[in-house]
Amino acid sequence: MKVYKFGGASVRSAEGIRNIARIVSVEKEPLFIVISAMGKTTNAFEKVLEHFMKTEKSEALIKLSEIEMYHQLISMELFKGIDSGKIVLEKIFNEIQELIAGGVGDDYDKWYDRLVSYGEILSTTLISKYLINSGIDNSWLDMRKLLVTDSNFREANVRMDESQKRLLQACDFEKHPIYIGQGFIGANFKGDPTTLGREGSDYTAAVVGNLLETTSVTIWKDVPGILNADPRIFENTVLIPELTYLDAVELAFSGAQIIHPKTIKPLENKKIPLFVRPFNEPENKGSVIQAETKNPIQVPILILRKNQVLITMRPRDFSFVLEESLSKAFMMMNKHRLKISMIQSSAVSISVCVDQSRYLADALDELSNDFKISYNENLELLNIRGINPEIEQSSIRNRLILLQQRTRKTGRFLMKVQE
Ligand code: ASP
Ligand code: MG
Repeated sequence: MKVYKFGGASVRSAEGIRNIARIVSVEKEPLFIVISAMGKTTNAFEKVLEHFMKTEKSEALIKLSEIEMYHQLISMELFKGIDSGKIVLEKIFNEIQELIAGGVGDDYDKWYDRLVSYGEILSTTLISKYLINSGIDNSWLDMRKLLVTDSNFREANVRMDESQKRLLQACDFEKHPIYIGQGFIGANFKGDPTTLGREGSDYTAAVVGNLLETTSVTIWKDVPGILNADPRIFENTVLIPELTYLDAVELAFSGAQIIHPKTIKPLENKKIPLFVRPFNEPENKGSVIQAETKNPIQVPILILRKNQVLITMRPRDFSFVLEESLSKAFMMMNKHRLKISMIQSSAVSISVCVDQSRYLADALDELSNDFKISYNENLELLNIRGINPEIEQSSIRNRLILLQQRTRKTGRFLMKVQE
């Protein structure tokens, strides 16, 4: 049995959904399909939530109706006017409208998960129905009943044992050759919906692969496979056909947006290979990530991590930066969910580079009790693996560098955004 995962870009249009049917129809092995919300639906639900939390209910409902329109147009195109798509979607939208009308926006993170998780409920419902209409037998699963998580809303952690029990019970591949479940979402023990962090559907695919011990996991993407750099930013990119789990973790950690950083661990634990393949050219092999490769990576890899903030902290009591200050600073950053991308310390200060986030202001506030803080926003972190003088020269040119770190093979440069 295999896991296939289709992301938002692959299912953003009727054409994309027809392509899923094409890819899946030639498959002989049983499949568990994980699907994201269609196109930019998650962002659109975030807008609904913003209004809801400000008790602007009618604005929230207007934003919701835009999401509905988008889904209904695709449904009409897929079902050629037959009502079946329209009706299933309407039922879900009614449910969301009721939640908004009757709800009180008390807890932001909890409401985030309750509302935003509908993006995946909508996409999977529509696609499952379309596949059935096209003669592809499948069974729709509600991952809010199967993937059990803790209550860390918006960044929930999966409870593997309980989830495995439930998934194994739900899937009987003698009955259905294909099961379809939502990426990104689950629920805590009480049944409150949770989400696993933005772009978390890859992680769901990996967790399902692990729990069902599948032969492989394939992520279908709108790129040829894993490239040595983002082709939207860098020229002359090349495909990397084989990577180790370690390569992939490094790439993901440095900010390569190709796979979610949490994806690798569940696969590595069970030595399940991960394929990254081009959705629009399914005949191509793409890239594979596995325990060992015959061909180590030969080309330099460039990764640009955007929206970075450099925070420099000096202890207020003028103590030198010793273990105690360090641990205090990191505990606070962890508490406020800051994602650290680079660390540097000197005798009197600690500098950390973090992803921009909505929790930053609170974190800085608390940190400034013990530290004198200065910070720079709107930065980019360029990570070069397999660095050589030519690559360095051509990728940095005349950029202003605020911080840099080097090892023999890698270079990391924190730079101001180019105007
Ligand atoms: N729909 C979610 C998001 O956009 C999860 C995913 O696409 O992986 O973040
Ligand atoms: Mg997405």
